[in-house]
Amino acid sequence: MKSIYIDEDLAAIRDQVRRYVEMEIVPNVEMWEEKREVPRAVLEEMGRLGFFGLRIPEEFGGIGQGHVASVTFAEELGRSTSGGFAITILVHTDLASPYVTNFGSAEQKSRWLPRFASGEMITAIGVTEPDAGSDVAAIRTTARRDGDGWRLNGTKMFITNGAIADLVFVAAKTNPDVKGSRGISIFAVEAGAPGFGASRALDKMGWHSSNTAELVLDDVWVPADCLIGEENQGFYYIMGNFQNERLSIMGQALGEAQRALELTLDYVKERRAFGAPLWSMQAIRQRLAMRQAELDAARELTYRAAWLTDEGEDTIREVSEVKALVGELVNAILYDCVQFHGGMGYVAETAVERLYRDVRIHSIGGGATEVMLEEIAKRL
Ligand SMILES: Cc1cc2nc3c(=O)[nH]c(=O)nc-3n(C[C@H](O)[C@H](O)[C@H](O)COP(=O)(O)OP(=O)(O)OC[C@H]3O[C@@H](n4cnc5c(N)ncnc54)[C@H](O)[C@@H]3O)c2cc1C
Repeated sequence: MKSIYIDEDLAAIRDQVRRYVEMEIVPNVEMWEEKREVPRAVLEEMGRLGFFGLRIPEEFGGIGQGHVASVTFAEELGRSTSGGFAITILVHTDLASPYVTNFGSAEQKSRWLPRFASGEMITAIGVTEPDAGSDVAAIRTTARRDGDGWRLNGTKMFITNGAIADLVFVAAKTNPDVKGSRGISIFAVEAGAPGFGASRALDKMGWHSSNTAELVLDDVWVPADCLIGEENQGFYYIMGNFQNERLSIMGQALGEAQRALELTLDYVKERRAFGAPLWSMQAIRQRLAMRQAELDAARELTYRAAWLTDEGEDTIREVSEVKALVGELVNAILYDCVQFHGGMGYVAETAVERLYRDVRIHSIGGGATEVMLEEIAKRL
């Protein structure tokens, strides 16, 4: 479909991602869900095909696109009907690696960005802790100076790609004496650093093919050049990248909801009850029609927020609206999709059953609905 936000180049990328997802991803998602992984070979192939370079500047092996491109890419990944697959990719491309693109030094960019773009290195972002999720400033992981570097101690919780990432961006307190938000820094910690590792993989309601780990930092030493950006600016970097994170995850949610509606439409046109297809029941038809209208409106809101962000506007209110609205809407849509699939919608491993579980996180992760509503309310 035409969009004022998507130019010819981006439309071509979108079509290429859609074909790749249909041919190479959809046939495999059930197997990956069962195995609780997206194979590394798939990540490497996607890197080789250029899918990880959308946001990385050209000089470092990418094509330097903006937030609109991220939403477009995420929507197509969402159409895979596997939230676990989509989030594995998006954490790398949109939630974690932008810490280097946006805040890294010239040396860090040339050291890492080409390898992020090629898929040689996969990244994760470690902010959340057992006692601090929505309240980022309350984290307790510490980093103190030690020789020509820093020593990190703490625990990170719910870290997507945590056990498969080659580099994890870890938020830690570097100044415990000031208000939480003013004393946080971001460090790039390599997998295999002594004292650093996943203590357990977390089993989840959905996103089964996505790795979610609890990470422990036990006296982990990192050299000084692993500090990202400026000391004590980490909280502001996290808040800045939340905009990107929320837009791309909600792009994923839009793709998931759209694909689920399409599958439901196919189903109700085929399935018969009381002598006619379910589609002939006005209650079903009209509910699906309204859901499509809501989804179309939500998509416009999302692209508009992404476009305004690309234009350099302050879009905290707009992005919070997107996160609050789409995060709830996708759940309502999947509820209806399961409902109209009847018993089949409840059977494990039908696409709508999987998506119903997968989308539950969208109103919680990356900024719970209530937290987003507070951000909007502050600006009303
Ligand atoms: C599968 C999965 C993957 C994740 N991946 C990552 C990752 O890669 N990296 C990372 O750092 N984190 C990750 N997270 C963490 C995620 O971002 C947090 O779970 C989320 O921010 C909520 O934090 P919390 O779980 O501590 O909930 P809490 O902060 O304890 O909040 C619980 C609930 O209380 C309500 N609430 C909270 N604050 C307010 C408020 N101010 N007003 C009203 N109500 C409120 C909300 O309903 C919220 O859901 C992941 C989580 C999951 C489940």
